[in-house]
Amino acid sequence: MTQVIKGIAASSGIAIAKAFVLENPELEIDTKTIQNADQEIERLDEALNQSRKELEAIKEHTEKELGADKAEIFAAHLLVLQDPELVDKVKSKIKNESANAESALNDVANMFITMFEQMDNEYMKERAADIRDVSKRVLAHLLGVTFASPASITEEVIIIAEDLTPSDTAQLNRKYVKGFATDIGGRTSHSAIMSRSMEIPAVVGTKTVTEAIKADTLLIIDGLDGDVIVNPSEEEIAQYTKKKEQFEAQKAEWAKLVNEPSLTKDEHHVELAANIGTPDDVKGVLENGAEGVGLYRTEFLYMGRNELPTEDEQFEAYKTVLEKMEGKPVVIRTLDIGGDKELPYLNLPKEMNPFLGFRAIRLCLEEQDIFRTQLRALLRASTFGNLKVMFPMIATLDEFRQAKAILLEEKDKLVSEGVKVSDNIEVGMMVEIPSTAVMADLFAKEVDFFSIGTNDLIQYTMASDRMNEKVSYLYQPYNPAILRLVNMVVKAAHKEGKWAGMCGEMAGDSIAIPLLLGIGLDEFSMSATSILAARSQISTLSKAEIEAVIDTILTMSTAEEVEAFVKETFIKSQNHVLAK
Ligand code: PEP
Ligand code: MG
Repeated sequence: MTQVIKGIAASSGIAIAKAFVLENPELEIDTKTIQNADQEIERLDEALNQSRKELEAIKEHTEKELGADKAEIFAAHLLVLQDPELVDKVKSKIKNESANAESALNDVANMFITMFEQMDNEYMKERAADIRDVSKRVLAHLLGVTFASPASITEEVIIIAEDLTPSDTAQLNRKYVKGFATDIGGRTSHSAIMSRSMEIPAVVGTKTVTEAIKADTLLIIDGLDGDVIVNPSEEEIAQYTKKKEQFEAQKAEWAKLVNEPSLTKDEHHVELAANIGTPDDVKGVLENGAEGVGLYRTEFLYMGRNELPTEDEQFEAYKTVLEKMEGKPVVIRTLDIGGDKELPYLNLPKEMNPFLGFRAIRLCLEEQDIFRTQLRALLRASTFGNLKVMFPMIATLDEFRQAKAILLEEKDKLVSEGVKVSDNIEVGMMVEIPSTAVMADLFAKEVDFFSIGTNDLIQYTMASDRMNEKVSYLYQPYNPAILRLVNMVVKAAHKEGKWAGMCGEMAGDSIAIPLLLGIGLDEFSMSATSILAARSQISTLSKAEIEAVIDTILTMSTAEEVEAFVKETFIKSQNHVLAK
């Protein structure tokens, strides 16, 4: 029987395929005394062999699809698998103690993990994480549990998971993964953001997909309305195939705007830029006609690997993006790690409130080696295009001043070393902590630009975790409190002759776009796949007409009131599907 599971529409489009349930199995290991050691060792060898083949396939695939740097982690896993010290110890435990392969492997692996974790050496600590991963993979084979990895998929599927980490998402193969649905997460969780940049239809925050859906069940993902249709009937398949075609036709209409400027009906120009996570995303940025990159989230360069990226690796990545964008503005944000973006190899202590913790610029100002390496890479790349540097999670003027001073110090050093650095690098900041929106008049005197990060600004203003669907009703982009903060920031920037953009997901939201135009936002940075829909919508709007009512909107009392007004006044006339 058909069942419809409601969730949050995270990435537009319709997908129809079988479910692939991505499980992270908890392994139960029994300790047994075995009779035949040779047979047990054979079982172990077989499991090692299967794991090796699996890892080689994943490594090769990752290398091809996502580049050699992302594949490095699997090379490290293969080394662990072939490490004679580990394997011999397991085998002698089987022989000498008549231990079964599972418990022998588990004990030996745990011994190495504890030993490495206690060492005061980053490299060794990382090895502990590798051993944990690899031994889990081998144990899964010994126990006959399927250890699913998104990179191992070789047929068309829809992924069902409790959540997808950003590195899981990075391994998804667009050729086979037609869509995904998760139990947790919201529109602005990073898996959702990446699904949009990869153009994979997605529904998140369903609470129940993993419980309700078994492997190989036929599914439809409706990323426009946030529905997961389980076991659809013939009729439903026909209905959604039609919806898919309509959406594709709409996209074809939007595609005609790819080389057009972003102009309102009354000829006001705004800049439509794209958010990217890796240099590979630039292709989509150009294909979708973006006028710049409004946010390059550099943290993805640091993820899915075992050590920090070197200055040269970073330089190459930044240079590639700047060159490919051919002089169009590129805002590169310095490392914003923390919250839901973890770097296991930094071994940071677990925090009670990671979103309020030691992250982003706070970490960079303390761990200055990491920060300075990135700044040098950015400065060296600056001559290859139109670079703007942006600092994340600024809370105080002092933090901005410190970060900028370090940037200038590194610039002076490079220049004295004879390295060419551009003299026209704008230095700006994210406005995502309410203190900076409130103090925007003072910040505006010192920055070259603001980019409003509503994903975080909303969660901090409303005290509503952006990952927690239980409180998602409070995550209200159209709440007048948020609109007033945005208005304060834009007005403060303009008073000082600076520009203000927005790189939170709100910038590409069809209800928010008229409001932001009326407030006077200069640059809208969004998922590349939202750009053409936004350009089409903007061409139907008159800035002057919205300006005439914006003060009234800012004095409304609820998000619902604002939304109803926008729909009635600025959206009703549009009869096309609005992109998510
Ligand atoms: C934001 O907070 O709005 C933002 C763009 O940054 P991120 O989503 O990477 O936290
Ligand atoms: Mg943020």
